[in-house]
Amino acid sequence: MSKPKIVVLGAGYAGLVTTRKLSQKLSPEEAEIVLINKHNYHYESTWLHEVAAGTINPNQARFMLTDAVNPKKVRLIYDSVLEVKRDEQRVVLENSEVTYDYLVVALGFVSNTFGIPGMEEHAFAITDIESSRLIAEHIEYQFAKYASEENPSDDSLTILVGGGGFTGIEFVGELAEKVPQLCKKYDIDRSKARIINVEAAPSILPVFDDDLVTYAKKSLEDRGVEFRIGTPIKECTAEGFIVGDDKELIKAGTVVWTGGVTGNPVLAKSGFELVKGKVNVDADLRVPGEENIFILGDCSWVMDKEAGRPYPPTGQLATQEGAVAADNIAALIRNQPLKDFVFHNKGTVASLGIKDGIGNILDGNKIRGKAAAAMKKVVDDRSLFMVGGPKIVLKKGKFRPF
Ligand code: FAD
Ligand code: NAD
Repeated sequence: MSKPKIVVLGAGYAGLVTTRKLSQKLSPEEAEIVLINKHNYHYESTWLHEVAAGTINPNQARFMLTDAVNPKKVRLIYDSVLEVKRDEQRVVLENSEVTYDYLVVALGFVSNTFGIPGMEEHAFAITDIESSRLIAEHIEYQFAKYASEENPSDDSLTILVGGGGFTGIEFVGELAEKVPQLCKKYDIDRSKARIINVEAAPSILPVFDDDLVTYAKKSLEDRGVEFRIGTPIKECTAEGFIVGDDKELIKAGTVVWTGGVTGNPVLAKSGFELVKGKVNVDADLRVPGEENIFILGDCSWVMDKEAGRPYPPTGQLATQEGAVAADNIAALIRNQPLKDFVFHNKGTVASLGIKDGIGNILDGNKIRGKAAAAMKKVVDDRSLFMVGGPKIVLKKGKFRPF
């Protein structure tokens, strides 16, 4: 039999870690490895709120795939995946097609607007480098326009953020840094520019306890962020959000939806059985009933047996899944037993801008303030190391020695 062909879809956390580990474990004689990604670069999805606020340059959050994988060991294809034809073991791309013996689907997340009228048409979403860059440029444009107009509307300087989960809160934390800089740059009174976070639930960041949530809210309010908590967004229009039962309109010049994400639509197109937009996979990360298809990261649910519910989708989870998927594919090729995925939680940290944050780290210890902000940078650098290796950390890391 000719050597097996492993095709990995997506070069995010899960896909890139799988590919790198496979290329270390398997010799070129044992298998052909193909990595397919929309772009010729990997981006750190976990840094996108910084790109969207304009507190980091988009190029810091991405690196070329050829800097992380050896093109002599991995065939790189830069193209968009349209569909997986499982019965023919074939992947349809925008510009070509690829067959596989083993398939890894790691195509990440898309924004989920839950059908809220007008949200897709009128709100920005933080989903990749270009969508995030667009938000930063739109915000700056609003400030530049305001500064150049005779009778500008103050509403054009309002930034509305819908959803007070991790993404929404980390994003307003970055905006609390950026907005004062923009006011200074365009000579605008700081009180004219508003940052408003709208959350339907009774609290922001439900993962953290009351103590940390109170700290986070106060820290952000002290830096000018306004909260509308317990306020469901009913509709989005060109003017802003319509909220609550009395249909109040909150006007803004920039509207960003951070109210949720779901799995890549390629899953639905390919006929996988979906639960809330993702595929339930077995403990070895394969699709039930499929010998040769692994689905990872934000495209799948993996059951946390202790908690009795799936693990929440995070970069940390996707990275660890990538390593286990590579081990299991190598085991399949070598006729060895597969292992079950077990998540090793290294803790959770949310940034609140550059110098502040909150977190639960090992053994349930709580951290806040500068310690949490520093920990977040360590986490970010560790993530870079896992997907790219030491050279990438030196080039793009947040604790660069130069
Ligand atoms: P991704 O990393 O999103 O990678 C998917 C890849 O597939 C991308 O390279 C994309 O270009 C490619 N792709 C997509 N569609 C196609 C297609 N049709 N064809 C070809 N290629 C395609 N998690 C944490 O653990 N810690 C954090 O601090 C954290 N912060 C976050 C901050 C923000 C702003 C956001 C939005 C998320 C954050 N998360 C965090 C969650 C984390 O980013 C995701 O859980 C993680 O990215 C999922 O990894 P993945 O490998 O499944 O997908
Ligand atoms: P999320 O689902 O965690 O949060 C969305 C928030 O929007 C929720 O609080 C929800 O109540 C709110 N919402 C939904 N509909 C609404 C409506 N109509 N009106 C007002 N509010 C509404 O989504 P996310 O924040 O994008 O996070 C996605 C995933 O990425 C999560 O699993 C998260 O853990 C992960 N993430 C992790 C980090 C981190 O670890 N630092 C950072 C960002 C994202």
